[in-house]
Amino acid sequence: MSTLEIRDLQVSVKLPDGELKPILSGVTLTVRSGQTHAIMGPNGSGKSTLAYSLAGHPKYEITGGEVLLDGVDVLAMSVDERARAGLFLAMQYPVEVPGVSVANFLRTAKTAIDGEAPKLRTWAGELKGAMERLHMDPAFAQRNVNEGFSGGEKKRHEIVQMELLKPKIAILDETDSGLDVDALRVVSEGVNRVRDNGETGLLLITHYTRILRYIKPDFVHVFVGGRIVEEGGPELADKLEADGYERYVSAAAAAQ
Ligand code: ADP
Ligand code: MG
Ligand code: MG
Repeated sequence: MSTLEIRDLQVSVKLPDGELKPILSGVTLTVRSGQTHAIMGPNGSGKSTLAYSLAGHPKYEITGGEVLLDGVDVLAMSVDERARAGLFLAMQYPVEVPGVSVANFLRTAKTAIDGEAPKLRTWAGELKGAMERLHMDPAFAQRNVNEGFSGGEKKRHEIVQMELLKPKIAILDETDSGLDVDALRVVSEGVNRVRDNGETGLLLITHYTRILRYIKPDFVHVFVGGRIVEEGGPELADKLEADGYERYVSAAAAAQ
């Protein structure tokens, strides 16, 4: 069992001129193994900033609060240490890794996280199985990571990574964006497999409610203006689908 505790997290982005622009103004959230939390909010509300801050992206400066994974200070860890500790981030815009094949990338990542190379024989089968379950052509294993991948292929590759790395806590940033209905279903099935193993806690960041028809969240948090403005169960997602974010956005603007 694992627990990620985010307490009153405050984050600024470092602008090119060196100035700090505050984005997150006190985020508090606890995610446990086996739970699925959806973070929903309009564009520009700071959802990706939260994801990058948890992963340790250097562009974001933590100005207050704390993040603990099973009681251990995540903010003091390097990006690598966070991954080894069991944090996984599927980015909104996955990056290309020229000259590195999918097969090598995944094996290197698995080795880094487990502290030892996976057994050659079982690994080949695991990789093949994970790719098949996400309906990826086996030829993909030889392609360079994300180079020329379609939006859907990038997202499938992220989910293959997640299935193979078995993180304690996975943060999926707009994994649904840019997917057609078939890809959304396949990707959602992959997420549900990971969720159903009971060992991974999921933080599902999304702008649209449609992925929540396939992946049922236990908790929904509405994110506006760099903070959580409402929380509830799955029924809150239905309300957002019907009403949108407008009333939260106006309330946040009025409070400024
Ligand atoms: P979301 O993922 O909810 O759409 P983001 O976290 O991407 O929101 O962005 C939140 C706010 O922070 C936006 O106003 C965005 O313009 C600003 N922001 C994020 N990254 C940068 C950056 N590198 N430089 C300037 N502003 C940024
Ligand atoms: Mg956005
Ligand atoms: Mg975003």
